[in-house]
Amino acid sequence: MASDPWAAILERLDDAAELTGLDPDIHRMLRIPRRVLEVAVPVRMDDGRVEVFLGWRVHHDNTRGPAKGGIRFHPDVDVSEVIALAAGMTFKTAVLGLPFGGGKGGVRCDPERLSLGELERLTRRYTYEISPLLGPDKDIPAPDVNTDGRVMAWLYDTLSMTQGNATPASVTGKPLSVGGTRGHAGATSAGVLLTARAAFSSLGLAFVGGRAVIQGFGKVGGPLAFLLASAGMRVIAVADVRGGVHNPGGLDAGELSDHVAATGSVAGFDGGDRIDQDDMWKLDCELCVPAALDGAITEDVARSLGAKVVVEAANGPTTPAADPVLDQRGVVVVPDILANAGGVTASYFEWVQSRQGMAWEEDEVAARLRSYMDGAFTDVWAKAEALGVSMRRAAYALAVERVAEAISTRGLFP
Ligand code: NAD
Repeated sequence: MASDPWAAILERLDDAAELTGLDPDIHRMLRIPRRVLEVAVPVRMDDGRVEVFLGWRVHHDNTRGPAKGGIRFHPDVDVSEVIALAAGMTFKTAVLGLPFGGGKGGVRCDPERLSLGELERLTRRYTYEISPLLGPDKDIPAPDVNTDGRVMAWLYDTLSMTQGNATPASVTGKPLSVGGTRGHAGATSAGVLLTARAAFSSLGLAFVGGRAVIQGFGKVGGPLAFLLASAGMRVIAVADVRGGVHNPGGLDAGELSDHVAATGSVAGFDGGDRIDQDDMWKLDCELCVPAALDGAITEDVARSLGAKVVVEAANGPTTPAADPVLDQRGVVVVPDILANAGGVTASYFEWVQSRQGMAWEEDEVAARLRSYMDGAFTDVWAKAEALGVSMRRAAYALAVERVAEAISTRGLFP
């Protein structure tokens, strides 16, 4: 894993500042998150003890709109990671043209070791502690690693109970029964598919019949395997935290998904051979999708990566040191702040519907998602061509210009 994800974002921000001739005052403002709240989260455990977890909610910049970003429950999460993820959201919402700023939250805990009751009490207490920052016009959380619709429903309920009124526009990724949007569940994966297709088409590569490898088989990687297979690709390898599986003829996404539902991992799936993650990266293929955690594609991995195109479903999966190696080798990278933006775009649709009090049909959500993702891809591709740089550098340049324009238009308070 990357030792310091915030340092990685700063490096990319500094590069974009240089590329775009960013006003040094605005550059200084973007190098420091607007607010960082650290909270203690005491939870009564099932055995009667009180355990105290540490949590954070960060607003990186909210000039373009209320802060938007997920909540991560993970044993390794720390404040630097949350700040980096919040900044990533500032730039991601800018690339997509969504009226949001960047936020993120995290609690350092191991959800696999918590009972359902402990998880609910942790979520509710954490929500209460960060609630001064939350609200439909202030900060709208959503799911991230190890959090889901059920956690968002507890968050929504806690906010509504403490405020004395329903606050459906305060959180997205809610289950449909409490005001979620149709099409949210698979939106990140759908966005990854849309950007992968757009990249293949721009590069003149055939999508149908192409081979793909995926790291991570969770909320993003799992549905993505189905989508890629339905779009005519062969998913030849998948790895998760416990192991990997390889089948040059293509893995059966349905059977693999059943195996994961039964065992919790792709490891041991009998529809392919066991493969180490290190070897998976080297497989000769057209598409590689990191869909697990940050820092997966290191300089070493980049040197022997077998794919022609990397589409970053995870946040920060490629280290800054790996970027030039991939560039030199001619591997095209569709960066996270574009590729995985389908989730936040669907969250934007959910926020709009919650405010309107009116649900959209599934095909309307899908059509709008396609339009936003394709539009953003076209903008980033054009910027990359105009500047003669990689898609990542172009995406950051575009985002930084949009945020900077908003900051200078609004002016500095007071
Ligand atoms: P998840 O918790 O549902 O799944 C994570 C997957 O990664 C699991 O299969 C896990 O086994 C695997 N994994 C974890 N550590 C690993 C390791 N060291 N090696 C190999 N595999 C490992 O999480 P998710 O929601 O699918 O999110 C995955 C990534 O996508 C994260 O970076 C997240 O920030 C990003 N993302 C998610 C969404 C979303 O809508 N869920 C939106 C945008 C970005």
